[in-house]
Amino acid sequence: MSLNQTNWTEATQAVEAAQSILIVTHVSPDGDAIGSALGLYNMLIKKCSSVAVAVDGGVPDFLSFLPHADHIQSVLTSGAWDLMISTDASDEDRTGQVGEYGRAHSKTIINLDHHATNTGFGDIYVVNPEVASAAEVVYQWWKQANYALDRDVAQPLLTGIVTDTLGFRTSNVKPATMAAAQELMSLGASLTQITAMTLDSRPYEVVDVWKRAMPSIELHDGVISANITLADQENVDDRERMEYGLVGWLRQVDEAMIAIVFTEDKPDQVKLSMRSKRGFDVSQVALTMGGGGHQQASGATVQGSLEEVRAKVMPLLVTAVKEGKLDIV
Ligand code: 5GP
Ligand code: MN
Repeated sequence: MSLNQTNWTEATQAVEAAQSILIVTHVSPDGDAIGSALGLYNMLIKKCSSVAVAVDGGVPDFLSFLPHADHIQSVLTSGAWDLMISTDASDEDRTGQVGEYGRAHSKTIINLDHHATNTGFGDIYVVNPEVASAAEVVYQWWKQANYALDRDVAQPLLTGIVTDTLGFRTSNVKPATMAAAQELMSLGASLTQITAMTLDSRPYEVVDVWKRAMPSIELHDGVISANITLADQENVDDRERMEYGLVGWLRQVDEAMIAIVFTEDKPDQVKLSMRSKRGFDVSQVALTMGGGGHQQASGATVQGSLEEVRAKVMPLLVTAVKEGKLDIV
């Protein structure tokens, strides 16, 4: 059973009572990690005089257009807080070093998330696995609390919704998601700017990596895979976005139900990025491998050589294809 618990009132009371608040999100932050964190931050700075937001390594360049992105700290070495809010992270480790520091120096922790694999850490749960993004959970919270939204809150929240739904295309997009997006746009969030800066943007160096990785593409038993080796990544700065677009593109292949990109992180460490068509579940494979995510989009970091990790993971994915049934109605 996945955790599905939204303690809005308790969470709002914790915010109202806090003299100081820390917001953290997951490492290797994506549009929803930063969007939901800034959607929280830009509202909470109006409620509380001491609010900090942090993620290991700071904000990625492609998300620096968001209001107050420059307020996001990349390390935490001092400070203590009444309340810490963790957003878009399904387990404690995902919040990295800033999360570890925050947990040791905060009195109460709100666990805000939308991952079905959420491990149930923290004191107050605002976890809704039925919505497509953590940003949508933040939106629901602000509506429950009756807080007035403005453009600075709307723009990051719409960014989280747009990026985690791949532009309103994932199966968990509901009429309520569209209604949230409509309100956020009417508050001044720019869908055009958001799509141009996120979904429709990548540096050439990423395409250069794909060029080198393409010969490794294989399709067997409904699973399409590619490898990005350390050699393929030479001279790349933007490592975070290397596998992201590639795995989504592989999932589009008609004969594939599941797509996976194996990215060598270090000589004996491999990152898995998995996507599936609706009806096929990659989150259980991610959990088995020590990661997490959603049925249709999951990931993990695994110790071992590329060959060893492939040998472990590929049979699990072939089984997941056999156990599933395409459901795109
Ligand atoms: P991506 O393939 O884009 O890195 O990740 C897809 C999904 O899986 C995201 O929802 C992300 O949060 C989750 N995910 C990726 N890597 C990990 C991991 O190492 N641990 C956990 N718990 N979730 C992960
Ligand atoms: Mn998310």
